[in-house]
Amino acid sequence: MTTPAYMDPEKIHSLTIHCAATPEGRDVKAATISKWDQEKFGQTSYHHVVELDGTAVRTLSDDQRGAHTGGANTGNIGICYVGGVDAKMNAKDTRTAAQRATLARLVREYRERYPGIIVRGHRDWPGVKKACPSFDVAAWLKSVRLA
Ligand SMILES: [Zn+2]
Repeated sequence: MTTPAYMDPEKIHSLTIHCAATPEGRDVKAATISKWDQEKFGQTSYHHVVELDGTAVRTLSDDQRGAHTGGANTGNIGICYVGGVDAKMNAKDTRTAAQRATLARLVREYRERYPGIIVRGHRDWPGVKKACPSFDVAAWLKSVRLA
Protein backbone atom coordinates (compact mmCIF):
# COMPACT_ATOMS: atom_id res chain seq x y z
CA MET A 1 0.00 0.00 0.00
CA THR A 2 1.29 3.43 -0.84
CA THR A 3 0.72 6.39 1.40
CA PRO A 4 -1.26 9.15 -0.29
CA ALA A 5 0.96 12.19 -0.88
CA TYR A 6 -1.11 14.40 1.38
CA MET A 7 -0.49 12.04 4.28
CA ASP A 8 3.27 12.07 3.86
CA PRO A 9 4.71 14.81 6.07
CA GLU A 10 7.77 14.93 3.82
CA LYS A 11 5.51 16.18 1.05
CA ILE A 12 4.40 19.25 2.96
CA HIS A 13 5.65 22.09 0.77
CA SER A 14 3.55 25.13 1.62
CA LEU A 15 2.03 27.08 4.45
CA THR A 16 -0.79 29.42 3.52
CA ILE A 17 -2.02 32.20 5.78
CA HIS A 18 -5.68 33.16 5.71
CA CYS A 19 -8.09 35.41 7.52
CA ALA A 20 -11.53 34.31 8.67
CA ALA A 21 -13.12 37.44 7.10
CA THR A 22 -14.82 38.18 10.42
CA PRO A 23 -15.20 41.83 11.50
CA GLU A 24 -12.47 43.49 13.50
CA GLY A 25 -12.81 42.80 17.22
CA ARG A 26 -15.46 40.11 16.91
CA ASP A 27 -14.32 37.29 19.16
CA VAL A 28 -15.14 34.31 16.96
CA LYS A 29 -13.72 31.06 18.28
CA ALA A 30 -11.90 28.37 16.30
CA ALA A 31 -14.69 25.87 16.94
CA THR A 32 -17.18 28.22 15.27
CA ILE A 33 -14.98 28.66 12.20
CA SER A 34 -14.56 24.90 11.88
CA LYS A 35 -18.31 24.47 12.21
CA TRP A 36 -18.93 27.01 9.42
CA ASP A 37 -16.40 25.25 7.20
CA GLN A 38 -17.93 21.84 7.86
CA GLU A 39 -21.32 23.21 6.86
CA LYS A 40 -19.95 24.95 3.76
CA PHE A 41 -17.22 22.58 2.54
CA GLY A 42 -18.03 19.32 4.31
CA GLN A 43 -14.81 19.40 6.28
CA THR A 44 -12.62 21.48 8.56
CA SER A 45 -10.62 23.87 6.34
CA TYR A 46 -7.55 24.85 8.35
CA HIS A 47 -4.82 23.23 10.38
CA HIS A 48 -4.71 26.03 12.94
CA VAL A 49 -7.00 28.91 13.81
CA VAL A 50 -5.48 31.84 15.69
CA GLU A 51 -8.03 33.52 17.94
CA LEU A 52 -8.00 37.20 18.92
CA ASP A 53 -6.08 36.58 22.13
CA GLY A 54 -3.37 34.76 20.21
CA THR A 55 -4.48 31.26 21.14
CA ALA A 56 -3.64 28.85 18.32
CA VAL A 57 -6.19 26.07 18.12
CA ARG A 58 -5.11 22.94 16.26
CA THR A 59 -8.05 22.08 14.00
CA LEU A 60 -6.47 19.48 11.65
CA SER A 61 -3.32 17.43 12.04
CA ASP A 62 -0.57 18.01 9.50
CA ASP A 63 -1.24 14.65 7.84
CA GLN A 64 -4.84 15.62 7.11
CA ARG A 65 -5.55 17.53 3.92
CA GLY A 66 -7.11 20.93 4.47
CA ALA A 67 -9.65 22.78 2.33
CA HIS A 68 -8.45 26.35 2.09
CA THR A 69 -6.64 27.01 -1.22
CA GLY A 70 -8.72 26.10 -4.25
CA GLY A 71 -7.17 23.08 -5.96
CA ALA A 72 -3.88 23.35 -4.04
CA ASN A 73 -4.58 21.77 -0.68
CA THR A 74 -2.29 18.77 -0.92
CA GLY A 75 0.81 19.32 1.17
CA ASN A 76 -0.41 22.77 2.06
CA ILE A 77 -0.85 23.77 5.71
CA GLY A 78 -3.58 26.35 6.30
CA ILE A 79 -3.44 28.83 9.15
CA CYS A 80 -6.34 31.22 9.65
CA TYR A 81 -6.46 34.22 11.95
CA VAL A 82 -9.79 35.49 13.28
CA GLY A 83 -10.60 38.88 11.73
CA GLY A 84 -9.42 40.34 8.43
CA VAL A 85 -12.22 42.77 7.60
CA ASP A 86 -13.54 46.03 9.07
CA ALA A 87 -17.09 46.66 10.26
CA LYS A 88 -18.16 47.22 6.62
CA MET A 89 -16.57 43.92 5.58
CA ASN A 90 -13.75 45.61 3.69
CA ALA A 91 -10.37 43.89 3.79
CA LYS A 92 -8.29 45.10 6.72
CA ASP A 93 -5.29 43.78 8.57
CA THR A 94 -6.96 43.44 11.96
CA ARG A 95 -4.35 41.15 13.55
CA THR A 96 -3.88 41.83 17.23
CA ALA A 97 -0.36 41.93 18.64
CA ALA A 98 -1.01 38.52 20.18
CA GLN A 99 -2.13 37.09 16.83
CA ARG A 100 0.96 38.49 15.09
CA ALA A 101 3.20 36.89 17.69
CA THR A 102 1.45 33.53 17.35
CA LEU A 103 1.62 33.63 13.55
CA ALA A 104 5.36 34.32 13.73
CA ARG A 105 5.82 31.44 16.17
CA LEU A 106 3.91 29.03 13.92
CA VAL A 107 5.88 30.08 10.84
CA ARG A 108 9.12 29.55 12.77
CA GLU A 109 7.99 26.10 13.94
CA TYR A 110 6.93 24.99 10.46
CA ARG A 111 10.19 26.25 8.95
CA GLU A 112 12.06 24.10 11.46
CA ARG A 113 9.90 21.04 10.96
CA TYR A 114 9.65 21.29 7.16
CA PRO A 115 12.79 22.98 5.83
CA GLY A 116 12.13 24.75 2.53
CA ILE A 117 8.42 25.18 3.21
CA ILE A 118 7.02 28.10 1.23
CA VAL A 119 5.04 30.59 3.30
CA ARG A 120 2.55 32.86 1.58
CA GLY A 121 -0.83 34.46 1.81
CA HIS A 122 -3.92 33.02 0.19
CA ARG A 123 -3.98 35.89 -2.33
CA ASP A 124 -0.41 35.07 -3.40
CA TRP A 125 -1.52 31.80 -5.02
CA PRO A 126 -1.99 31.99 -8.80
CA GLY A 127 -5.51 32.81 -9.90
CA VAL A 128 -6.78 33.86 -6.48
CA LYS A 129 -8.90 37.00 -6.66
CA LYS A 130 -9.39 37.49 -2.94
CA ALA A 131 -7.83 39.95 -0.51
CA CYS A 132 -7.26 37.15 2.01
CA PRO A 133 -5.39 37.39 4.39
CA SER A 134 -5.67 41.20 4.11
CA PHE A 135 -1.97 41.83 4.53
CA ASP A 136 1.26 41.42 2.57
CA VAL A 137 2.73 38.19 3.93
CA ALA A 138 6.14 38.63 2.24
CA ALA A 139 6.55 42.14 3.68
CA TRP A 140 5.44 40.98 7.11
CA LEU A 141 7.88 38.03 7.08
CA LYS A 142 10.66 40.49 6.29
CA SER A 143 9.59 42.80 9.10
CA VAL A 144 9.75 39.99 11.64
CA ARG A 145 12.99 38.61 10.17
CA LEU A 146 11.37 35.43 8.93
CA ALA A 147 11.88 36.09 5.22
ZN1 LIG B 1 -8.08 32.53 2.53
